[in-house]
Amino acid sequence: MGEVTLTPKGERWHRTAHPWTYRDDLAAADKALSGSVVRVKAPSGALLGQAFYNARSKIALRWLTDDVQDRVDQNFWAKRLRAAIKYREQVVAHSTAYRLISSEADGFPGLIVDRYADTLVLQSLSLGIDSFVPLLTGLLKDLLNPKSIVARNDSHMRTLEGLKEESQLLFGKPPPRIEIKEGKILYLVDVWEGHKTGAYLDQRENRLRARDFSKGRVLDAFAYQGGFSLQAASGADEVLAIEDSESSATFLKENLALNEISNVRVERANAFSRLRALEKEGEKFDLVIVDPPAFAKSKAELAGACRGYKEINLRAIRLLKAGGVLITSSCSYQIQEEIFLGVLRSASADAKRSLRLVEIRTQARDHPVVLTHPESKYLKCVVAQVAG
Ligand code: SAH
Repeated sequence: MGEVTLTPKGERWHRTAHPWTYRDDLAAADKALSGSVVRVKAPSGALLGQAFYNARSKIALRWLTDDVQDRVDQNFWAKRLRAAIKYREQVVAHSTAYRLISSEADGFPGLIVDRYADTLVLQSLSLGIDSFVPLLTGLLKDLLNPKSIVARNDSHMRTLEGLKEESQLLFGKPPPRIEIKEGKILYLVDVWEGHKTGAYLDQRENRLRARDFSKGRVLDAFAYQGGFSLQAASGADEVLAIEDSESSATFLKENLALNEISNVRVERANAFSRLRALEKEGEKFDLVIVDPPAFAKSKAELAGACRGYKEINLRAIRLLKAGGVLITSSCSYQIQEEIFLGVLRSASADAKRSLRLVEIRTQARDHPVVLTHPESKYLKCVVAQVAG
């Protein structure tokens, strides 16, 4: 087995229990092969544990275990997979689609596995885990008995690890559209073309929660295939869903038909300009849902992203009736909760409307947040009410 040695700073960082070590924190790695499991040593020579090593990636080490005796084999992964399955049994109810393995949070560095009814969709995003995909596919079959397994490996993140971007069928043959259930709603999912692995599973609990705030007129900006709109439809008189992608808007309509929902109107438009126009037209809503794509993908984009979030939330706040509710999200990791609240504070001040915080929420519990891995918390979902 290969070996790498940390710098003193690398050792201090490792004591914080963060699951990554950056390239600059390695003192020596001449006895290590990229993609393999290596033993990690402190500058003193003491053995600290085992990790995936990749010379090509800025994240040079992805920690697997602090136990140098562990063998990273079938049993090692089977134990972690059983724990991941057990945890989902505890936190997921009334849904046939959820995240089964959430990378580092489940002890699988760089691996995501999402379940859509009988189909599993995996994404392998680190060189180390990629070589275990055949073994893991076998384990998933044994423990979960799925009808098909797809590798949605078209993520750009793979190039950072020196991996090719390519999706593949690993087993079985999923139908072109998979039907899943979330609470009382059915959704169709295209696991080859849909965003992420097919759907935004991280918003599941927030979508279900949105039902409780749904009444009268609802506006769902950035609607995608109708995630929030369909959940909100039951409590509302009417829902206006805004989505700028033609294919997503079409998909949304199919989801409406599947559920025989007739009080959702789909408009293909840019949410920024459409919200401004709605304000000019004097329209008002009881609930406005704002769930845009990540505006900041890196630190460099932070300032521009804050302007974007402020602009869209300002528009949303202006459209609320007295006592109306805003459910607003940001999935940019860079926009930390305090920053997001600051953006909302400033939008509320500009709109001259007092906002009271009802709930500060995050990603669904099947996407666990690990305290020693701050990057694992990326989704903010704020429920706020304007004064009545
Ligand atoms: N709320 C959805 C996920 C939304 S993802 C759910 O729970 O399933 C963000 C969506 O915003 C994507 O479908 C994207 O196509 C759309 N989008 C991006 N920019 C937009 C814009 N300027 N106006 C309207 N929609 C936009």
